[in-house]
Amino acid sequence: MHLHKTKMADEVQLAQSAQVGGDTIFAKILRKEIPCNFIYEDNLCVAFDDVNPQAPVHFLIIPRKYIPQLSKAEDTDAALLGHLLIVARKIAQKRNLKNGFRIVINDGPIGAQSVYHLHIHVLSGRQLQWPPG
Ligand code: AMP
Repeated sequence: MHLHKTKMADEVQLAQSAQVGGDTIFAKILRKEIPCNFIYEDNLCVAFDDVNPQAPVHFLIIPRKYIPQLSKAEDTDAALLGHLLIVARKIAQKRNLKNGFRIVINDGPIGAQSVYHLHIHVLSGRQLQWPPG
């Protein structure tokens, strides 16, 4: 329990010191400078498993377009943002997540965002609690 709390505190600290803008690890993944096994890709987005999973199923969906965070998205990104959710649904179906899943988008320091390239977390495979920490 104590360990868990310490880890969470570390993650929040990391998130709050994360650089806004600039190049990100996800940009490097998209440019194939860092190897990554895509579980899904199309011309608008890619998906891959989270390197530090918080549940038995934990994958990320990121747009190819650089949008640093949801609060910086523009009205013209509406179709792209909708597409990311439809892809989440398709991957969830493919992975047979019949009993549900959770979508998370962390935004900014308060949301504990650590990578400033918009991404959707999809979590499942265990009972998730509410409220989140
Ligand atoms: P967030 O805190 O919402 O910005 O989430 C960033 C997520 O990216 C975290 O859950 C990290 O574990 C994950 N992450 C960071 N680097 C990688 C990587 N190279 N491959 C997969 N996931 C990563």
